[in-house]
Amino acid sequence: MIDSANPHGRTRGRLPCVRKALIAGVTGILGASFFVGLSSSASAADCSAGYVGLTYDDGPNPSNTTNLLNTLKSNGLRATFFNIGQNAQNNQALVRAQQDAGMWIGNHSWTHPHLTQMSSSQIQSELQRTQQAIQQATGTAPKLFRPPYGETNSTLKSVEQQLGLTEIIWDVDSQDWNGASTAQIVQAAGRLQNGQVILMHDQYATTVQAIPQIAANLRSRNLCAGMISPSTGRAVAPTGGGGTPPPSSPPPGGGGSCTASLSAGQQWSDRYNLNVSVSGSNNWTVTMNVPSPAKIIATWNISASYPSAQVLTAKPNGSGNNFGVTIQTNGNWTWPTVSCSAG
Ligand code: ZN
Repeated sequence: MIDSANPHGRTRGRLPCVRKALIAGVTGILGASFFVGLSSSASAADCSAGYVGLTYDDGPNPSNTTNLLNTLKSNGLRATFFNIGQNAQNNQALVRAQQDAGMWIGNHSWTHPHLTQMSSSQIQSELQRTQQAIQQATGTAPKLFRPPYGETNSTLKSVEQQLGLTEIIWDVDSQDWNGASTAQIVQAAGRLQNGQVILMHDQYATTVQAIPQIAANLRSRNLCAGMISPSTGRAVAPTGGGGTPPPSSPPPGGGGSCTASLSAGQQWSDRYNLNVSVSGSNNWTVTMNVPSPAKIIATWNISASYPSAQVLTAKPNGSGNNFGVTIQTNGNWTWPTVSCSAG
């Protein structure tokens, strides 16, 4: 299982012990304190620089996937999971959990073999069984396929085409499979440009621990985690699946200038708090667009009105420039977009 769940390294088989020791060390050092700085505050969901595709291969994995999903959700990130078919078959509840968390699910073959050494019919079996297992778990067959080790050839491509699958390799390799540290994984994600895709794995503590810093880095560059388009293979704004895309936000309207920044608050299994901090003005209107089917179920420190079901208009109520909302996700953990106008 370790082998089939193992990723793309050419040197795999030599590394597991090294990797385990490294992960244990990192967990020991960082485990207690790492999550303290996690609620990085920055302008949320400003996607003006575009979208990148976060991908996690080789799951689902009973010892990692739940933690990975929770960490992604609490950092407002969505990702694509390239599942190994036999792992999906053996862990159908985890596949559903991926879907429920608003993630996208792709095909990564049934047993993670070197497909370029296989016959067309063997390849077909590897891909088709995986399509069926994932469809059984989620009700939908994947449209994206990532070949193990990134190895492809014309035989494989023709099977992909028959099954309606788009082949997705990657632009940036996090090297998490090769013992990269959390800092190195974060650094790799820092190289992502609009439309690009990064390779990571549903397996390593280092990879999970990198998520808060990856989220902060993307926010600081006005990049958002998007879906991978089956038609272009590039990362794009999310559509369908876990929810509607955030409406393309108009430039902050009207009067003077102010900025509303979001940061994560407490989180439960079905809802989360967001803290909103307004700067630049004491006389502001913050408009928050909540992606359907999520709903705002509570607010504090504001005078709230709701021009439509997915939109909150917030004005000061004498409690200062920090307010909060509770959002019931209804399965969509994507953070709302906010804009601020002053005066
Ligand atoms: Zn893999």
